Amino acid sequence: MSKNLRIAIDGPGGAGKSTVAKEVARKLGIDYIDTGAMYRAIAYKFISCGLKPGIEDDGFTESLNKILVSTDVDYSRGITRLDGIDVSDKIRTAEISSAASSFSAIPSVRKKLVSLQQKMAQEKSLVMDGRDIGSNVIKDAELKIFLTASPEERARRRYEELCQKGEKVEYEVVLCEMKTRDQNDMSRELNPLVKADDAWEIDSSELTASEVVKLICDRANQLFCVEK
Ligand code: C5P
Repeated sequence: MSKNLRIAIDGPGGAGKSTVAKEVARKLGIDYIDTGAMYRAIAYKFISCGLKPGIEDDGFTESLNKILVSTDVDYSRGITRLDGIDVSDKIRTAEISSAASSFSAIPSVRKKLVSLQQKMAQEKSLVMDGRDIGSNVIKDAELKIFLTASPEERARRRYEELCQKGEKVEYEVVLCEMKTRDQNDMSRELNPLVKADDAWEIDSSELTASEVVKLICDRANQLFCVEK
């Protein structure tokens, strides 16, 4: 009997989750959901509305929650939509990376996005990547991966990605921001970045993305007959 295959891929920024998750989903012919893009989109909205990450002055929580209830975030077929508008490119900046990390620690933000993600993962096969997918969003995922790499290697990858997009950045700054983001993600009270007990840890520092994809697809094929 075939059943749904939900693959959760978690890990710190720059470990290669999105590249790997996208390709695994393509090879298995199932959906891919980038939950980081959803946190980025909501951070983009907060910033556009004048909220500053990390500065919780008078009226901050009230404004944030007001914006939150009237905001629609969606991720589908590689496109991130904010209130129906494609923001996929706009959310890939260093400013939004850091803002997403800060806003994502706020319980009402997480509650809204986790609930959306759980609906998206209902009754179908998919690959979902993020920080808390195996430990929180899909606790009963059929396959859980915790993808890591050294901070230096992750920063190098992110630095090259930003340079290719024409952003003017320094490697040392990217490394420092990456470490700060790791710290934020691992230390927040609600749904921190942790390896789920039953997750398979893969260190991608010395592996190409294709090698990681192969490892995951081989394991998925061993375990399941995928229902598309
Ligand atoms: O994966 P990505 O770097 O695009 O995620 C941006 C930020 O969104 C992360 O630094 C993290 O703080 C937050 N995030 C999260 N939970 C997820 C996915 C992302 O808190 N499931």
